[in-house]
Formats: sequence, structure tokens, C-alpha cells
Amino acid sequence: MSIFKGLGTVVKHLLEDPVTISYPEVERPVRERFKGKHALKRYDNGLEKCIGCALCAAACPADAIWVEAAENTDEERYSPGERYAKTYEINMLRCIFCGYCEDACPTEAIVLEHEYRLSFTDRRDSIYTKEMLIDAPPDGVPETPQKVEPGAFDRAIPDMENPK
Ligand code: SF4
Ligand code: SF4
Repeated sequence: MSIFKGLGTVVKHLLEDPVTISYPEVERPVRERFKGKHALKRYDNGLEKCIGCALCAAACPADAIWVEAAENTDEERYSPGERYAKTYEINMLRCIFCGYCEDACPTEAIVLEHEYRLSFTDRRDSIYTKEMLIDAPPDGVPETPQKVEPGAFDRAIPDMENPK
């Protein structure tokens, strides 16, 4: 009797739609709240939102972030305010994708987005550098550093339209 019950279960599942997907040919969309690879964001004028304050590094429970700040000038401006992140690195072997860095950031510069393809085969490749994390400037907008009008971007945290 139990053999027939077992066979019945097999036949039942044969008739159901498969629950597996053929990754990587097919990719399942992630949830809106999913936290994947970090991105360093820019303002619409191309300036970097990161001001090198290292609050994200202080908030990180895994000690995964390394920030080294340097001075902005109006001739070579990377971000609003006095300082920008000269070095920004995240050790992906340590990161637990908690999002505390995102919560701690006063300028909404670091955001955990939806990219989850993060595999690597060498430990050295686990260090994600600023160049790997930062978004490209919008179309037609110059890269940083930019030469700007003196005094135009003295505030490190400009007024945001919709602060969260
Ligand atoms: S997501 Fe969490 S563990 Fe990863 S870098 Fe940010 S604060 Fe650190
Ligand atoms: S990402 Fe945000 S919290 Fe981290 S150094 Fe840059 S501005 Fe500061």
C-alpha cells in the first residue's frame, strides 16, 4: 500500500508546474527590500554624494568599510563640502548586508541595491573599491573632479528635495 502512496506522490508532483528556475538563463526578480551590492551615488550635477565622513564605517558591525578622506577645492571638487572620499573600500568577505551603513549615511551616498552576482575566486577580489562601487555620472555630465564656481558647494549636506 505504501508503494502506491509513494507513487501517487511522484505522479502528483510530475503534473505540477516546476518550482525551480533555470538560473542563470532565467533570473527571479528580487524583493524591493532586498539588499545586494552597494552603490555610491551622485547628485544630478555629477558631484559625489559621499563626503568622506566615515559614519558608515563607524556603524558597520563587521568592520568591513575603509574610508580615507581628502580635501575638496573649487578647482578640483569631488563632492559638496570640505572633504570627499579619496579611498572607499568594502571588504565583501566581511559584509553581512545588514544595511547599517546605508542608515548611517547623512547624504544617502551609500545604497545597497539589487545586484547579487558577487562571486569571486581570489580573496583580493573581495575588496570592492570606490571605482567599482560608484555610479557613472548622468549623461552629458562631466566626471569628478569638476571645476566649480567659488563658494557654490560649500555645504557638505545640501538641501535634499525629499530627505528620508
Ligand atoms: S551592509 Fe552592514 S556589514 Fe555590509 S558594509 Fe554595510 S554596515 Fe557593514
Ligand atoms: S558613504 Fe555616507 S557615511 Fe560613508 S563616508 Fe560617505 S558620506 Fe559618510
